[in-house]
Amino acid sequence: MQVELKHIKGGLLEQEYTCDPADFPDLAVATTKSSATYRGPVEIRLRFRQAARMVEVEGDLRATLVMACGRCLAVFERELSEQIVMTFVPDDREDDTVAERELERHELGMIPYRDDCLELLAPLQEQLVMAVPIRALCTEDCRGLCPLCGADKNLSSCDCDRIPFNSKFGVLAKLKK
Ligand SMILES: [Zn+2]
Ligand SMILES: [Zn+2]
Repeated sequence: MQVELKHIKGGLLEQEYTCDPADFPDLAVATTKSSATYRGPVEIRLRFRQAARMVEVEGDLRATLVMACGRCLAVFERELSEQIVMTFVPDDREDDTVAERELERHELGMIPYRDDCLELLAPLQEQLVMAVPIRALCTEDCRGLCPLCGADKNLSSCDCDRIPFNSKFGVLAKLKK
C-alpha cells in the first residue's frame, strides 16, 4: 500500500482500499495475545492533502473483530470504526542521526517518507493492532461463568453461590459451640 506524491494531483487525493487482515502480518501476533481475530475485509478510506512537502492524511477504517468474552467465553463479533489521522513529512536529509530524528517525529505523530512515496501499510497496521482490546467482554455487565459448576450465569442461575456460604457458616457455627 503506497501512494506516490505525483498521484496527489492538485494537492488532493481520495483513496479506498479493501484489505484482507492477512495483508497486515503483525495482526496475527497482536490477536493471538488477546484471543481476538480480525475477520475480513478491512475497509479503509483515506483523503490525502498535500501542502508543500507535507501530506496530511485523514480517513477511517472499518473492520470486524471476532472475540471470546473474557468472562463467559461466548464468541461474539464487534464492528470497529477507527478514525485515521497521519502526517507524512519528507525524510531527505542524509546524515547519521536518522534513527534519532525518526524517533522524534514519531513522537509528534509524524511519519517520514522517502523517494516521494508514502508507505501506508505500517501505520495502518499499527492502528489495527492498537484497536485490539486486551480483554473483551460480550456486554459490559456480563455475569460470567460460575467457577464451581460452569453454568453461564447470563443464561441460568445456579445455587453454587449459596452453598459455600452456608457450609462456611455451618463450620463457623459448629466451632463456636
Ligand atoms: Zn460474556
Ligand atoms: Zn454454579
